[in-house]
Amino acid sequence: MHYFSTNRKSPSASFEDAVLKGQPDDAGLYFPETIPTLGANFISGLAQSSNEQIAFDVIKPFVGESIPEDVLFDICRETVYFNFPLVRISELISSLELFHGPTLAFKDVGARFMSRCLQHLSLKRSEKTIVIVATSGDTGGAVANGFHNVEGVEVVILYPKGRVSKVQELQLTTLGGNVITLEVRGSFDDCQTLAKQALADVGLRRKVFVTSANSINVARWLPQQFYYFYALKQWEGPPPVVSVPSGNLGNICAGLLANASGLPATKFIAACNENDVMPRFMTSGELLARPAVATLSNAMDVGSPSNFVRVLELFDNQFPTLTERLEAVSISDESTAETMLEVYNDFGYILDPHGAVGYRALADHLERNPGRKGIFLETAHPVKFDSVMEILGTQGEIPVSVKELLTREKRSIEIEPEYEQLKEVLLTRI
Ligand SMILES: *Cc1c(COP(=O)(O)O)cnc(C)c1O
Repeated sequence: MHYFSTNRKSPSASFEDAVLKGQPDDAGLYFPETIPTLGANFISGLAQSSNEQIAFDVIKPFVGESIPEDVLFDICRETVYFNFPLVRISELISSLELFHGPTLAFKDVGARFMSRCLQHLSLKRSEKTIVIVATSGDTGGAVANGFHNVEGVEVVILYPKGRVSKVQELQLTTLGGNVITLEVRGSFDDCQTLAKQALADVGLRRKVFVTSANSINVARWLPQQFYYFYALKQWEGPPPVVSVPSGNLGNICAGLLANASGLPATKFIAACNENDVMPRFMTSGELLARPAVATLSNAMDVGSPSNFVRVLELFDNQFPTLTERLEAVSISDESTAETMLEVYNDFGYILDPHGAVGYRALADHLERNPGRKGIFLETAHPVKFDSVMEILGTQGEIPVSVKELLTREKRSIEIEPEYEQLKEVLLTRI
């Protein structure tokens, strides 16, 4: 498999090169040259297959010759070692719980897969690797955890000061070792800009190998397809509507890719919070990036969704076919909180704010389209968000890993959103 750049000015790359480079030089995103087809047998056999086998079968065509099959199988096994239950909430709605991994959010899947690919690929190289990642909340913890103590790799995390939850912050700042955490006095978009500047810094790249661990890296983006198949494995009946709480659109774009490969689904919903760039695009056909506003679902506070170009690419830039497959809606904070209360009172189910956005968008869709049923992705554990306690007065049972985390001490370096400050830290740490 080869990957071309969505800007079409850089040469195409193998999986290995795309993973190591992160982003093509022309600042586009890598996109697979062909979309594999998973036959009807694969889909009808899901219920009999193990999760690691499904992961392996889905990812194998994308990896090609870059990683030997036995190594790739091990990587898949280590990536999806936890559960992905589909929990029925009501007659029409089920929750795909993606929070049973080590940092309690779906990003564990991409982060674990990528860290293990990078470890394998960098074994062949002698250069030191710096993985740089901007996080709006969950990415950083998942990446830090995935790379912690991986030899030859330093991880640099950038997060917006005061805009992540207490549990998220502790996940970001307490690992130590090869993980350096920078607390940026700015927004997530500022963090993302800083990461991009480091990746584009030729002087820095001469000294050390720099790569990104954001969802733009194909090794983070592509494995997110796995759990859509796990959902179908547990699903009975006509193809579901699938609602995905969305920010940078990496997760939903992976779902759409799986759908293009043969995953049955009636429709996808990009469930956004008040950062409504995508819903506006779907009605106007125009993408207008805007500064992110802070909401309850902070991991989706994105004003300029980086995977947008991949969504377009998937539909060959055909707006009419895109609108047929995909719906995008914006859910207010008020409605998010109301939904959390409603679902807790009616069904005793505790939603986190991101899942609540997904639930609301799905419930509204099903009301407009009688006869359909659907799945929303519950992308993180409620305990990660302080607002759940404020809204519901409970966060459910506190996982053991979180109790342990609460006893640890935060360690971070505070910087202004200026590249010079990031560079200084990078240079002193190399
Ligand atoms: C990152 C994240 C999202 C948004 O995913 P994208 O791939 O950026 O669209 C949604 N929910 C949670 C909990 C997240 O951490």
